[in-house]
Formats: sequence, structure tokens, C-alpha cells
Amino acid sequence: TPGTEKTFFGHPRGMATLFMTEMWERFSWYGMRAILTLYLVAGVLDGPLEDRKLLATAVYGVYNAVVYMAAMPGGWVADRLWGARKAVLVGGIVIALGHFTLAVPSDAAFFVGLGLIATGTGLLKPNISAMVGGLYEGESSARRDAGFSLFYMAINIGGGVAPLLVGYLGENVNWHLGFGVAGVGMTLAVVQYVLGGRHLGDIGREPTRPATPEEKSAVVRKVALWTGVAVAALVIDLVLGTYHIEHIVSVLAVLGVVVPILYFVAIFRDPQLSAEERPKIKAFVWFFATAVLFWLIYDQSGSLLTLFADEKTDRMIGGWEFPASWYQSVNPTMVIILAPIFAALWVKLATRNREPGTPVKFALAMLLIGGSFGIMGLAGAAAANSDTGKVTVFWLLSVYLVQTIGEMCLSPVGLSLSTKLAPKIFVGQIMGLWFLATATGNALNGWVTRLNAPMGDAAYYTMWAIIAAAAGVSFMVAGKKLRALMGNVK
Ligand code: GLN
Repeated sequence: TPGTEKTFFGHPRGMATLFMTEMWERFSWYGMRAILTLYLVAGVLDGPLEDRKLLATAVYGVYNAVVYMAAMPGGWVADRLWGARKAVLVGGIVIALGHFTLAVPSDAAFFVGLGLIATGTGLLKPNISAMVGGLYEGESSARRDAGFSLFYMAINIGGGVAPLLVGYLGENVNWHLGFGVAGVGMTLAVVQYVLGGRHLGDIGREPTRPATPEEKSAVVRKVALWTGVAVAALVIDLVLGTYHIEHIVSVLAVLGVVVPILYFVAIFRDPQLSAEERPKIKAFVWFFATAVLFWLIYDQSGSLLTLFADEKTDRMIGGWEFPASWYQSVNPTMVIILAPIFAALWVKLATRNREPGTPVKFALAMLLIGGSFGIMGLAGAAAANSDTGKVTVFWLLSVYLVQTIGEMCLSPVGLSLSTKLAPKIFVGQIMGLWFLATATGNALNGWVTRLNAPMGDAAYYTMWAIIAAAAGVSFMVAGKKLRALMGNVK
């Protein structure tokens, strides 16, 4: 087994491979994302500035939704066709091609590139996470959590450096150069993954539950049918001359909500789901719903909060204005600092038998994300009342600090929880479902961000603060029931 080789910070050697792959993959993803909203406003969309901003935040939300939604078919491909190993490899190559396509300055290339990145990320992201779980097969739950905390560092090292480099190149030199650099990062990830593959043992080599030929052709039929329906609808829209990018945005937003519901129904109906696994999936539904609200709020940082950063924060340092996209480095940097502290805190509390269970951590996460938007509401009010219309960087820095503490209570915990609650044959797909919570949050967020302009910053952000706080309190109250459903999982 990989565990008997030399270790990586006390973790299985295969972690080093997955760590580096994820680091570069996230570098490319967060680099691209840091400039996406700004590029949409400046270089892709047409019309008056206010309309472009509104549409850019919607496209951004929906695009995130699509990328994270792609994690489900990606999980299916690994569980049932290829095994995670190959899914991650193919995914990585497709993502790199996507970024290089974005480097080509043309509108058509832009949308093709986004499509490639979504497809590749769907194949890579859930399955690399499931492989991390695979490194800890048969080990204690605490060690698995620690493994995921380490993996989370990789995510945020990549995510922290990228906006600085890609953001600077994109905003200050040339958008396409920025996208190209993201592609170079992803290429490094793939090379490293292939070279480090020998440390992964047999993890993810085979599909966990290979699809039968009938199942395969049923899927092909369904995919063909729905692709046909989508293309036909688009063609009709174009022919009638009614087409607007907002139609695509709206359809995808609805899908972001409908798809998880259908998916949960399908899992509950699956005859292979045993009676003792059923309550665990029920518990997972509640964690899922909470995570949706969390990411709905959290992921506005790349859209509304980036536009706020761009227009309403004073970014001058000694006569030079730093790029607005640089704010996107703040959260990952804080994660890198805080993740080890939290990991140590959980371990310390665990040794005294006082570690909060996952339900309490999720409730805390909601209170914190609510608190962060409470601060954002105040920042909005301060900007509105200032003579220059701008506020100091400290407002957004405090927003991101509180958000990051919330993230520490939810995101690595949720990843680990998903691998624990998932029946083994479903692990890729449950991982996909975990990321689907981000998708749904973002699909809704593409809709709700349009309330920002009419409501004004103060009212808009305060509204979310109240909703999140209410969700946190309810989750705290429901904790006991959840623990009963979770059985032996903490
Ligand atoms: N920042 C984390 C990552 O990129 C979490 C993202 C998410 O699950 N929404 O993996």
C-alpha cells in the first residue's frame, strides 16, 4: 500500500502527487476566475456599463454553477467507466486546453474555452478529492480530516498565488496573456500527476462499480436526447431573433436547482442503497442544503465584491493602484494561515473529547458567513457616505477574514464528511454532490445578485446576513436529529 512508503508531512506519499496536481489546477482555475467578471464587463459583453455589470455577475454565477455541476457526470465517469485515475488525467488535459483556448483573443474562443474548462474540471475535481479519501482507507476519521486539511492547503496555495500573477497580467498587460499563464499552470499539474502516479498505488485504477453495456447505452441515449433538446431550443431562439445570453443564464440557473433534487431522488431509489446507508444520505441532504446557502453568499466575492473592490475601494499604494483582482488572493492566503491553526484546534479539542461535531461546525459556518455580509453591509454604507465614494481596504479584508473562518468550519469538513457518509460504491458521485452544493449556490446567486443594484449595498448585504444567521441558528437546533441520522459518523 502507498502508506508503507516514505511519507509527505506524515501523510501517505501519494498525497504529495495529489497535492501538487490540485495546487496547479486551482492556480489555473482561480487565476482565470479572478479576472473573469472584469473581463466580461470590459471585453465581452455589450451595452451600457450598468447592464454589462449585471449580466457579468449573472454569467459569472452561472458559469461557476456549470463547472461545479459538471462534477456529477465527472464522478459518474470515474465510478462507472474509467476509474478516478484516468478521469483526473483526462480532466487535467482538457482544462489546460481550455485555458489555452481563452488565450486566443476571440469571442467564440472565449465560450469554447469556458466549455472545455467546465468539462475538464468536472472530471478532475470530484475524483481527485475522492482519491484523497482513498489514501485513508481504513484509517481513523481524525486522520482523514487531517489529510483533507492538508489537501485544502494545496487548493489555497494555488488559489492564492494565481490572482496576483494572472490578475496583474490580465488587468494591467493583456487579458489573454493572463488566461495563457493559467494554462501553463495546468500543464505543469498534468506533467507532475503523470510523473507522481507511481505513489498512488491502485487508488482509482478501476471503476468502483462498472456500468453494464445496457446502462452505458441508456446514458448515451439520454445525453443525446437532452443535448438535442438544448440545441433545438437554442436554434429556435436564434432563428426567431429573440436570443439573448440571458436565456442561457436563466435555463442553467433553473437546472442548478432542479438537478440536485432529481439526483437525490435517484440515489434514494437506487436498489443498491442499503437500509443502513439510507439515513446517512438523509443527513447529507441537510448538510447539502446548508452548504448551498453558504456558497451562494461566499461566491459573490468573485462577482459583486470584485466589482465593489474595483469601484469603491481605495487601492492606491504609494502612487500605484493595485489590481482589483488581487483581493481574490486574500481569502486563500488567510486559509493557508488559518487551516493549520484550525486543524490543531480540532485535534486539541478532540483529545479532550470536546471537538464539535460536523453539525455544530456547519452552524458556526453559517453564523460567520452571515457576519461577513453584515460587515459588507456596513462597508456599503460607509462607501455611500464617503465623499470619494471609496472606502479603505480594511473593510474587505475584515469581510474575507470572517468568511475564511467560516470556510474552515464548513469546506474541508464537508469534503471529508462526504467521503465518510458516502456508501463506497457511490463515493465519486457523492463527492460530485458535495460540489453540486456549490453549483446550486452559484446558480441561485446568478439570480439574486441582481437585487444588489435596486436595493443598494447596505440593505442587500444585511439581508443575506440575516438569512444566514437564521439558518445557522436552525441548524444548531436541529443538530441532535442530524446526529441520530449520521450513526457512527461524527
Ligand atoms: N476553495 C475550495 C476549492 O476550490 C472550495 C470550493 C468549493 O467547494 N466551493 O476547492
